[in-house]
Formats: sequence, structure tokens, C-alpha cells
Amino acid sequence: MDSSDLADALQEVHSQIRRCRRCPLGRTRTKAVPGEGAPEASLMFVGEAPGGDEDQQGRPFVGPAGRLLTHLLKTIGLDRRQVFITNVVKCRPPGNRDPSPEEIAACNEYLLTQIALITPKVLCTLGRFAGQTLIDKRLSISREHGKPRRVSGILYLPLYHPAAALHQARLIDSLEADMRQLRRVLAEELATPPSKVGPQDA
Ligand code: URA
Repeated sequence: MDSSDLADALQEVHSQIRRCRRCPLGRTRTKAVPGEGAPEASLMFVGEAPGGDEDQQGRPFVGPAGRLLTHLLKTIGLDRRQVFITNVVKCRPPGNRDPSPEEIAACNEYLLTQIALITPKVLCTLGRFAGQTLIDKRLSISREHGKPRRVSGILYLPLYHPAAALHQARLIDSLEADMRQLRRVLAEELATPPSKVGPQDA
């Protein structure tokens, strides 16, 4: 797919998300938050769900956790516009409660389509919900953070959620160390020619 077809296909998915009524969050949201960034990004971040600031603006990670994520990206020489940022659930759960399994399931097709279109080299999950949805439903973030895992040809790197680090200062050190790990694995992936192994064989 050439880059303008890719951008159009992604915009079409994002229009569907903005009109979506697949789950009850479609009735309580202010704005759906499809995600943003470079359609051809090598690096993708997937968080949990929009919070209050994101719900108002229709953009991912623009509140306090987003400012920390933007800062962490800068520490490894990256600008937000070079990566693609989205969430497992595209609409804010009222009161910022955890998303339910039904809400995650209702949104899953959108997330998988975004990943299939963007085809990132490295995908960082932020927090438990993204890690358990995309990597392994039994993933323990405290044990597995910073450890890359290849699934169907994509290298996944589970990270703590930046919002958790805003509440528990000791997690900042882990996030900073994991960002350095991210810089290493991304450089390696970018230096490796695309694999001939199909998704079913990976
Ligand atoms: N937390 C998330 O998981 N996603 C956002 O977009 C903002 C905060």
C-alpha cells in the first residue's frame, strides 16, 4: 500500500471510531480518541483508555500522563509526531474507571486494524490492560516490563503506564531504564531487513 492509500485507510478507520456506538461508552464520551501520529511509524504506543483531557480534545495522551510520555520520548531523541499513539479503548470510561472486558472486545477490531495498517517494528504497551490485550492475557507488568517479546512478527515491549509513575515515583526509574532498552531494540529492529517469515510461522 502506498503512503497516501495508507493515510486514507487509517483516516477511514478513525472516522468509523468517531461514529462508533458498539458499546455504551459511545453514549457517555465527549469525543472519541482514535489515535494520532505518523501512519508509517516504526514505533507505536498503546495505552489503556482516554482520560478527561483526551475526552475533551479527542487526542491521546494530552493530559499529565501524556506530558510524561512526551518527555520520555524526548529522552531517547524522539518527537511524538514520529510515532503513533493510541489506546486499547477509544472512548473514556466514566470517572476513569477500568475498561470492561466487553468494552475492550468491542474496540479490539479497531486496534488490530490500526496495527495491521501501521505495521510498526516495535510496539510498546503502556500498562496492564494494553499488555494483557496485545501480548499475553496473564502478563505481569511488574515482572515483564522492559522485556521484549516477538508475537506474529512484531516486537512488543511492555512498559509501565506513565500514569502509574505519576503516583509511584519509584516507577519513573523503571520507565527511564525501559526507554533506554526501547532505544536499543528499536535501533536493532531498524537495522534488520524485513523477515521472510510469515505471521503464522513467527
Ligand atoms: N491514559 C491512557 O491510557 N491513555 C490516554 O490517552 C491518556 C491517559
